[in-house]
Amino acid sequence: MKLRFLGGAGEVGRSAVLVNDSLLLDYGMMTGNPPSFPVGSRDLDPEAVVVSHGHLDHAGTVPALLSGDARPPVHWTPPTYELAMTLARDTLKLHGGSYRCPFTENDVKRLTQVSTLHGYGEPFEAGGHEITFYDAGHIPGSAHVLVDDSGVQSTPGNRTQSDDGETRLLYTGDFHTDDQRVVPGTTARPDADVVLTESTYSDVSHEDRTTLEERFAESVRTTLWEGGSVVVPAFAIGRTQEMLLVCEAYDLPCYVDGMGKRVTRMLRQYPDYIRDPEALRRATSHARFVTGRDGQRRRIVDSGTVVVTTSGMLSGGPAMTYVPTIRSNPVNKITLTGYQVEGTPGRDLLDTGSAEIDGRVMPVAAQVESYDFSAHADREGLLGFLDEYRGSEVLVNHGDRCGAFAAELREDGFEASAPELGETVVV
Ligand SMILES: [Zn+2]
Repeated sequence: MKLRFLGGAGEVGRSAVLVNDSLLLDYGMMTGNPPSFPVGSRDLDPEAVVVSHGHLDHAGTVPALLSGDARPPVHWTPPTYELAMTLARDTLKLHGGSYRCPFTENDVKRLTQVSTLHGYGEPFEAGGHEITFYDAGHIPGSAHVLVDDSGVQSTPGNRTQSDDGETRLLYTGDFHTDDQRVVPGTTARPDADVVLTESTYSDVSHEDRTTLEERFAESVRTTLWEGGSVVVPAFAIGRTQEMLLVCEAYDLPCYVDGMGKRVTRMLRQYPDYIRDPEALRRATSHARFVTGRDGQRRRIVDSGTVVVTTSGMLSGGPAMTYVPTIRSNPVNKITLTGYQVEGTPGRDLLDTGSAEIDGRVMPVAAQVESYDFSAHADREGLLGFLDEYRGSEVLVNHGDRCGAFAAELREDGFEASAPELGETVVV
C-alpha cells in the first residue's frame, strides 16, 4: 500500500493522505492569513474521497476537488456531510471570490451530488478499497477509517506497490479515548497492519474531566455572584455543544451565539451520533439563543450571565463584540476552552493580557482563564490506544512533535515513524 502525505504530516491542519494513487483520505484547510491547503493539489485526481470528520482541518478543502471535470464520490457519515457543508458555506462567506478561496458556490453545490453517506460498522467500496468507519469519539460523526486494499486490482493505471495487495490501514483521524458529554470515547480497535495515528496531545496529560468541569463551574459561579459576566469562547463544532451540556449539568445560566447555534440545532437531527440526545435537548432549551445584533449582545453580556460564543481562539465571530464589552471590568471573566494556537488573539490574551480584537489591540482587565476541554486523546490515551497495535506498523501525523513521538514509540518497542510533508511511504 502506497501512502502519499499531502498535509497534516508534522503539522496540525490541512490533513490529506492519498492511498494507492486512487483514494484520498481527508482534504483539510489550515486556517491562517492566508489559509493554506494540501500540497500537490494540481495533479490530484482521486477516484474517491473519504472524510474522517467535519472539522475544517480535515474537510475544509473538499469542495475544491470538484472544481474541474472530475466528480469523485465523497464518502462520510451523515453529520460529517452536514458539518462539511456548513464549513464550506462559511468559508465562502469569509473568502468567497477572493484568490484565497479554492472553491466556488457551484463546487459546493456539486458536493451534494457526489456525497455518499455511511454509518459506523457498514463496509463500503471506495476507489478500489473496502472502507469501514468506526466511532472515533472526537465529535459527532467522527470516524476512524479502516482501509482494506485486498480488493484492489493491479491495473496499469492503478498500481499498488505492495506485492500481495492485502494491507489493512487504520487511519485514526482525530479521536478521544475518554467520554465527553457530547460523544462517548472510542472503544473500536479493529485489526490493522498499519496504524496512521494523530498525535496532537502526545506530550500532554488532560486533567480529569469531572475535576475540570467542577473547577470551571465554580469559577463561573464566583463571577456571577460578584455580579460579573463570563464569555466562553468555543469552537462551533463539538465544543459549543459540550459547553452547553456542562452549563445545563451545573445549572449555569447561559446564552449561546455564533455558528455554534446552527451546528447545535443541526446535530440534534442526528441522535444516533450523540451520547445522550435527551441531555442535548435539555441543554439546548436551557441555553438562550442570541438572535439580535450587536446592541442586544452588549446588553446581554452586561447582565451578569454566561455567553458561549465563537470563535474559540477569538479570531472572529460575535466574541468580537462580547470581549470588548466586558474587557475593562476586572470582575468579568473570559474562559478559554481549548488549545490556543500561536499567533491567535486567544493565545496573545493568555500570554500578554492584551489581544488584537477586530483589528484593534486592546488591554483586557477582565480575568482570563484557560480550561482544557479537549476532544483529543492525551498522551496516556494515545499510548493506551496504540498498545492494542503492538504488532502493527505505526505512522504518526497530525501534531507539532510527530518525529519525537515516533521516537518515543520506537523506544517503547513499536515499529514507528513520522512521514514528512510531501513524502510517499510504502507499507
Ligand atoms: Zn478534529
